[in-house]
Formats: sequence, C-alpha cells, structure tokens
Amino acid sequence: MNQAESSLQAVLNQLAEQHRLRRLKTIEQPKAAEITFNHHRVVNFCSNDYLGFSQHPALIEASQKALVEYGVGTGGARLIGGTYDLHTQLEQQLVVFKQTEAALVFNSGYQANVGILSALVNRHDVIFADRLNHASLLDGALLSRARLVRYPHNDVEALENLLKRTQTSGQRFIVTDTVFSMDGDLAPLKALYHLATRYDAWLILDEAHATGVFGETHRSGLWETTGLGHQPQVIQVGTFSKALGSFGAYVAASQAVIDTLIQFSRSFIYSTALPPPVVAANLAAIELLQQDASHTQQLWGNIYEFARLAKGAGLSPETNSAIIPILVGDESKTLALTDQFLAAGFYVQGIRPPTVPEGTARLRVTLSTKHSFEQIEKLVQALSHFVYQR
Ligand SMILES: *Cc1c(COP(=O)(O)O)cnc(C)c1O
Repeated sequence: MNQAESSLQAVLNQLAEQHRLRRLKTIEQPKAAEITFNHHRVVNFCSNDYLGFSQHPALIEASQKALVEYGVGTGGARLIGGTYDLHTQLEQQLVVFKQTEAALVFNSGYQANVGILSALVNRHDVIFADRLNHASLLDGALLSRARLVRYPHNDVEALENLLKRTQTSGQRFIVTDTVFSMDGDLAPLKALYHLATRYDAWLILDEAHATGVFGETHRSGLWETTGLGHQPQVIQVGTFSKALGSFGAYVAASQAVIDTLIQFSRSFIYSTALPPPVVAANLAAIELLQQDASHTQQLWGNIYEFARLAKGAGLSPETNSAIIPILVGDESKTLALTDQFLAAGFYVQGIRPPTVPEGTARLRVTLSTKHSFEQIEKLVQALSHFVYQR
C-alpha cells in the first residue's frame, strides 16, 4: 500500500471504529417485495418503489417497445440531438400531470436539484432551507454561492423571523422537501406559500417522495393537496425514481423558469439525455397513475394497516407517508438491528449520520403496494420484539 492509499485507509478505519463505514449490499432476484441476499430470502422494507411500478407490466412493455424502436441510448445531450419525441411527449404530459405552465425532464433528482439552484440563484440571493432537506438541495445551494440560511425543521415561525431579519439586494428562495426522505413527515406547504408571498420569495419544493403518493386527482404530489394550483413563484421538482418506479426527474414551473433552466442549468446542458426505454417507462408510469387511483389507494391501505397494527402492539411510530422512521439513536445499535432484521427475514435499512443528524440514527421502514398484510404484520411483530423490548 503506498502512502496515499494508507491515508485513505486510515480514514476508512476511523469510520469503521465509529460504526459509520458504509457497505454495499448486493440484491439478487428482486421479485415483488422479496429479494435475495447471499441466497437468503428477505422481505424488502427499504425500497422507494412505493407503487411497485419498477416491475409493472405496463412500464416494462412500454420500455421494451421503445428499446426496439429507438435503441438503448440517445447519443447526445438534450440541446445537441438528444431530444427525442419521447422526451417532448413526457414534458407535455408533465404539464397536465402537475397542472403547471411548463415542465422539463432532468436525468436524476440529484442533477435536477443541483441544476435548478445553481441556475436560478446567484451569490446576491439568499436561500432559506429546511435543516432536514435532501443532500442534493444542500449541494445545489452551495454551488449557487448564495447566502445559505438553514431554518429549524418545519418551523414556520423561525423561518418568518429569519426572513424578516435577513436583508438582501437579491432574491429570496425558500427550499424544502415536501415529504422528508428520512423522517417521512410533511412540510407545511400552505404556511410556506403564504410566507413566500408575504416576503416576495420563490418557493422550491422537492416532491421526490410525494409524487404518486399524495394528491386526489392526479396523484402528483403534496402541492396538489393545497389546491393552490399553478403559482408563478412555485417551482416543483420530482423524480421518476421513487413511486414512479423508473429513473429520472422533472421540474414543473412557469415557462420563464423552464426557459431559464434550458439556458443556464449545467446539469441539464452538459449531460446525455435519458435513454428512450427509461423515458417510455416514465410516460407509462404517469399514464397509469392518472388513469388508476388503485395503486396509490393500495399503498395507503398498507400504511393504515401498519399504523393500526403498530398501535395495537403499543408502538407509536409516525405514519405520515410511506416512510416510517424508527428512532434508535445509537449507531452501533442501529447497525446491529439491521443485521438482526436480516437474519429474521426483513431488509430494513439503518440510517446513520451524516445522512441524519447526530444522535438520531434510525431504522427507515418504507411500505409499498408489494407488501401483503401478512408481511406487514410480521414486520410489526419483529419491530416490537427487536426494537421496543430490547
Ligand atoms: C431521492 C431524492 C432525490 C434524488 O433523486 P434521484 O432521482 O434518486 O437522483 C432528490 N430529492 C429527494 C428529497 C430525494 O429523496
């Protein structure tokens, strides 16, 4: 080992001592809610594929058809020969789905957030960001070089004080997840919107975990539930990679915002366009979601069943969305619990700092339409046994 490698190894050793070393787990043969690790079959309770769309026949068929008709790749960035009719159709469909003026497809949620913030925000502006926002929003904020003000999680009053106190010659941006990815709780969107209006700020919403899960009519996310519809100062980001089962992301906003992103968003401009089979799957996912409420209803059926059983077992996890955090606190204990659950037939991922704040290591349970009531019942029994009666 040379000296450079030794210094890397020292950092890795330190992480291992702190129980923070991250390791990849390889899944074999995913089949509905069941997956295999080292030939050991377990029920997957950590996937973001909330509606089971990753293996839905309609998406697979659309994807196969596009694969045969268009091939595996686009051969260029969106502005240089990479925009196919499929991308344009998807953007037109997103406008209907999200009820906005315009929409733009990005290659991933990470790229969308980094690309939007760095394109729309500059160093004279101020970003007000929830403390528990997704890392990609934080990275986009840093890249924009704007002043970054982080407010306590979901604390509207604290945010208002910060908005009052913070003077700027530039613009203000309030940025939040709508469903928080590690806590599963919901941002107070109406209150945030009123603050944005009162303090002349933009409101950027990340609907990654809400798309397909919230919204009565289109099931397009938490913003839909406010009934406020298209608002020029609201910019909605979402992904195709969670409930929609595939890959990629979108931004839905006013035409002026979308046109600006096409000019200045570097992660949009300097990256090859999404492959046709992926775009076709995304089109099929939105179609399915809009035509048929049963997938989302079934997910909520599972969430309510989990809540009912947990309550019956004397547990009180918060069940605001498909993401249910089980707070443990200690990092080595969290790791040990993940292993115990695996041995008992459940894949429940432990989440440690720096992904979550210090002292809040947890198990992150996610529910999906793929789970049966019986699987959920067994999980609740295991939670009650391993976590709450230690
Ligand atoms: C997963 C996630 C992203 C990143 O999306 P990808 O498509 O996986 O890159 C962005 N924001 C939030 C809130 C997420 O949970």
